[in-house]
Amino acid sequence: MSRRLTMALPSKGRLREPSWSLLEASGVAPQEPGERVLQAHCRNADIDLLFVRAEDVPEYVEDGVVDCGITGLDLVFENESDVDVLLHLGYGTCSLQAAVLMEDAANGFEDLEGRRIATSHPHIASRLLAERGVKAELVRVAGSVEISPRLGLADAIIDLVSTGSTLRTNGLRSIGTLFESEAVLVARSGTSELEGQKTLTTVLGSVINARANRYLLFNIAKDRLADVTALLPTKGSPTVMDLATPGIVAVHALVPAADVWSLLPKLETCGASSILTLPVERMVP
Ligand code: AMP
Repeated sequence: MSRRLTMALPSKGRLREPSWSLLEASGVAPQEPGERVLQAHCRNADIDLLFVRAEDVPEYVEDGVVDCGITGLDLVFENESDVDVLLHLGYGTCSLQAAVLMEDAANGFEDLEGRRIATSHPHIASRLLAERGVKAELVRVAGSVEISPRLGLADAIIDLVSTGSTLRTNGLRSIGTLFESEAVLVARSGTSELEGQKTLTTVLGSVINARANRYLLFNIAKDRLADVTALLPTKGSPTVMDLATPGIVAVHALVPAADVWSLLPKLETCGASSILTLPVERMVP
């Protein structure tokens, strides 16, 4: 009998809700833990869940307290954790950016030379600045990094940014991106080939792939088929089926969700009709 897999999930913060809904969508049926309960089980899979802060997940995984976990890629690098990244999960996307006050003259990383920079990511910031040949003084702050320049605590900040609205609200201007991050599934170093980890990677990966695609169906006159299939941003070959009406075929294809809005008007112009797009639940390429 295969061993139960233990998995750490973010107990609060930005990554909590999307991590939980990914597990639900994957069909493992996580059981909602009660208030203040730190552990839960899954109804349909041999997985035990442990709820800890996202920033503690890399440590729990590295130390073998759990087999795997979900956290931010930035936290893996900040903690310099010896873990394997099994899967990029497509949410919690943000970038580590350097920013200065609007009125500051700095325009690039080189202009940070010798200046004071507030950050809650000191390890990753010092490594990435050193890679760019910049020597700066890093001031570690736990939160509200973006108010540090106005308070006179620092000349600049290095912080995670997703929309940029927090920077703007605090009168800051980005001068460059050091690192791109998103939520990731991590496992203890060297264990990615174990059965439980591989199964979890396939199952979660099938949901991530599915979310990024739509199932597209439409009808088209046979003599226009070549024109429309040339428009389709599909990797594989579309399915083409004869309809009861002679000379008309139905086309089915998987297309990237991001392309749907630009594709539909082009298909219509080409003569496609009865165009439908459907969400995909699972997709294993
Ligand atoms: P939390 O502080 O628990 O809400 O989550 C922090 C994690 O969420 C970070 O380590 C990133 O991986 C991710 N994240 C995504 N967008 C942002 C953002 N705009 N600011 C901070 N963290 C973000």
